[in-house]
Amino acid sequence: MTRTPAADRPAGRHTSQEYGLTRSDVEAVLQEFGYRVTRPRSTVIDAVIAHRRPFTAEQLVAQVGGNPSGPSIGRATVYRTLEILAAVDVLTRIIQPDGHPAYVCDSLGHRHHLVCSGCGTAVAFTKCPVDDLVRVLTKDTEFAIHDHLLEVFGVCPSCQTAAS
Ligand SMILES: [Zn+2]
Ligand SMILES: [Zn+2]
Repeated sequence: MTRTPAADRPAGRHTSQEYGLTRSDVEAVLQEFGYRVTRPRSTVIDAVIAHRRPFTAEQLVAQVGGNPSGPSIGRATVYRTLEILAAVDVLTRIIQPDGHPAYVCDSLGHRHHLVCSGCGTAVAFTKCPVDDLVRVLTKDTEFAIHDHLLEVFGVCPSCQTAAS
């Protein structure tokens, strides 16, 4: 499984190089959705975009809470900022193979992840197979459906190689 090439992603204003999100990309999304960009939020964003792999909210709290070079940021602010970033699809909430929730930051927009049960690496895919189901469910149940989660678990190529 290789990463989805950028050309195959749906055209959007915010498509950016995978793993190449910058703070200004993220701040532009927040502003577009009407969220203020405050100093603490910018600090959390810097910490978030530095993560190449899934991370937990507590890891972020530890990272920015004891920041020796600046004001430390409280747990509530970190959690709230992570929630906002997930709400605007900068972050995706995933469940790690150990069952703990985590966040992953790789590209912008609605996406799902393949998660390696060996090393925890998460690979995004942007083709959402749930959309059609949501349409059917909405029609059949009259629910106002606002969100869904989908994760696919497996073993990544390098973990397969390591095991053989
Ligand atoms: Zn792996
Ligand atoms: Zn989806």
